[in-house]
Amino acid sequence: MEIIEIKKGKEVPIKHRHHWVFSKSVHKYPQDFKNGEIYRVVDFKKKTIGHGYFSKKPKAIVGRMINFAMEDPIVSLRNNIRSAIELRQKLFVESETNSYRLINGEADRVPGLIVDRYNDVLVIQVSTLGIESLKKTIVNMLAIELDIRMVYEKSNMPSRSIEGLKPFEGVVWENEKYYGQKSLDEDLTASEGFNVEIRENGMKFDVDLKNSHKTGFYLDQRNMRELIKSLSKGKRVLNCFSYTGGFSIAAALGGARHVTSVDISEEVIKQAEKNFDINNIEKGPHNFIAADVFKYMEEQDQILDDIVILDPPAFAKKKSDFGAARSGYRRLNRDTLKKMKPGSMLLTCSCSYHMDEDSFFEVIKESAAAAKRDVKILQTHRHAMDHLQNIYHGEMDYLKSYLLWVE
Ligand code: SAH
Repeated sequence: MEIIEIKKGKEVPIKHRHHWVFSKSVHKYPQDFKNGEIYRVVDFKKKTIGHGYFSKKPKAIVGRMINFAMEDPIVSLRNNIRSAIELRQKLFVESETNSYRLINGEADRVPGLIVDRYNDVLVIQVSTLGIESLKKTIVNMLAIELDIRMVYEKSNMPSRSIEGLKPFEGVVWENEKYYGQKSLDEDLTASEGFNVEIRENGMKFDVDLKNSHKTGFYLDQRNMRELIKSLSKGKRVLNCFSYTGGFSIAAALGGARHVTSVDISEEVIKQAEKNFDINNIEKGPHNFIAADVFKYMEEQDQILDDIVILDPPAFAKKKSDFGAARSGYRRLNRDTLKKMKPGSMLLTCSCSYHMDEDSFFEVIKESAAAAKRDVKILQTHRHAMDHLQNIYHGEMDYLKSYLLWVE
């Protein structure tokens, strides 16, 4: 295998198991370098650091390490996939939950790849050319290891353009057959449809693979749904940015007497209603509102609910959004806190990677002060365990939540 040589001093973070290789760290590429190929990575003394896949298309991150050893990188890839599967088997042993993140990119040592399991379907997200080149190998490895009916790809992240990749969505594997890059328009239909019913801690959710966000469902909030379920008995709950009703179902099954779900998208509100139906929850006492949460908050004189959930989309999608995002979170939390009744609870979340934990904490403190409310932290939370974080590689850490007591 050909080698890529790292500049003197720049090998340190890679030796410390950070998976990314920056363009400024590369001393020499091989003469017949090809984008998307795997190379052996060596330091200035030509000592092997490990193996990674490379592409010169992105300006900053040109390489991602697959292993930090002499081992054949394809063998490592298989081992890394197997360890990821084994870990989930341990995390969800005898569990009521059949849906979780199976491969969390760099945290599971498969940089550039997300795999979420939804019952007997895998949804994959490919963010790099390196993984695109390895896709067939990876999908076949997954299909051998797991009892699944379909692998569906939802790679519609705008960030793919940095790698020269177009958005892609469609079936990549079904009934023992690999389809690769066939689009849905090429009349490839899933034999059992594009909806999959998943189970999570005694709750059921219908996930519409085609018409959904991210990979389909916000699996990262599983623990917070359990928390809301445990607190909801006899309560009025307001779920803002409800999406398909994850928190709403948790509240209703936890015994809430009244749940209001608010989301700007009519489609997801319909999907939330469907999720009430499949859980046999009588919809009568509950409200489903397709509206802008900011406007909804403005229109309320007082919020009569005992528990309010604010889990908005990422306001900071890139670093330069930070200022605007901070104002957005501040306005949302301030206006909500102002109107909440004394003795109620607020679960407030941010899934913006560019809003770090300390900054989000400051925003919450400022919002509470501006609302002139006495607020205490009951619980802080990050991601559910299947969204593990690599201690050497902090770039995957995005979600933070506070459960607040509002006096
Ligand atoms: N809390 C959800 C995930 C929320 S995702 C869960 O746990 O499943 C963010 C949601 O916010 C999306 O469904 C999106 O449609 C909605 N959204 C975005 N902007 C909005 C706005 N201004 N008002 C209401 N909903 C909005």
